[in-house]
Amino acid sequence: MTHQARKRFGQNFLHDPAIIERIVQAIRPQPGQRLVEIGPGKGAITLPLLAACGRLEVIELDRDLVQPLADRAQGIGELVIHQQDALRFDFAALAGDGRVRTVGNLPYNISTPLLFHLIAQSDSIQDMHFMLQQEVVDRMAATPGNRDYGRLSIMIQYHCRVEPLFGVGPGAFQPAPRVHSAFVRLTPWQQPPVSVRDTDCLATLVRQAFSQRRKTLRNTLKGLLSEQDILATGTDPTARPETIPLEQYAALADRLAEHKQGE
Ligand code: SAM
Repeated sequence: MTHQARKRFGQNFLHDPAIIERIVQAIRPQPGQRLVEIGPGKGAITLPLLAACGRLEVIELDRDLVQPLADRAQGIGELVIHQQDALRFDFAALAGDGRVRTVGNLPYNISTPLLFHLIAQSDSIQDMHFMLQQEVVDRMAATPGNRDYGRLSIMIQYHCRVEPLFGVGPGAFQPAPRVHSAFVRLTPWQQPPVSVRDTDCLATLVRQAFSQRRKTLRNTLKGLLSEQDILATGTDPTARPETIPLEQYAALADRLAEHKQGE
């Protein structure tokens, strides 16, 4: 039976052999490495990865894809299929004392929550190679002053090095998505260039700062930090959130953490 691509599962299957080859080359899978693929679909990148590693774990939500995938993997290597929602998957439990490499042509409809789910477990992840909407990769890699710079840029860059690798046009997929895509490498920092006392404070602060991009920090951060607090970190309270670098957000988050501790 042929499988109809399901929109609700964000199914756009890769069918361009040159792009699949570029993806595998960028990942450089080695025998014995612990790779986990999110959303293997019909196996476009799964099978070459399995051939290179000998063993692969995959997380696929669509149960109709599971048996065909298991059949295709026969004779290539050991494929462990978790028929599960990647948004609920416990990567830390899978990694145990070690760390896993995660890869995937992600379902675009859940890419942002999935990225947040992954960075929350980044201690258990060696690296991540993902196909995403070009627009999401632009936001992840954006620097202060850029119109794409925002919550996603800051939270991802706090946890990982971001390397956009190459763009991919809609024609590489079946069905073709409406948007352009890009392949990106995220490498969780071993030694973070910026650290905060409490990442929850950073998350709270950044969410609130960007809730109204056009306002000044003094206004958006009302209720969390006073103008004096902002000044005490060496930050201009009349600056707009999209101009503030990560280091400055870290200083503001530490100020917030101090207040929370004093409560
Ligand atoms: N890797 C395949 C390829 O490149 O052709 C398929 C990629 S397709 C963009 C996304 C895949 O993620 C689909 O197979 C879809 O069923 C699966 N998927 C969607 N939501 C998921 C979820 N919450 N957890 C795990 N897999 C999911």
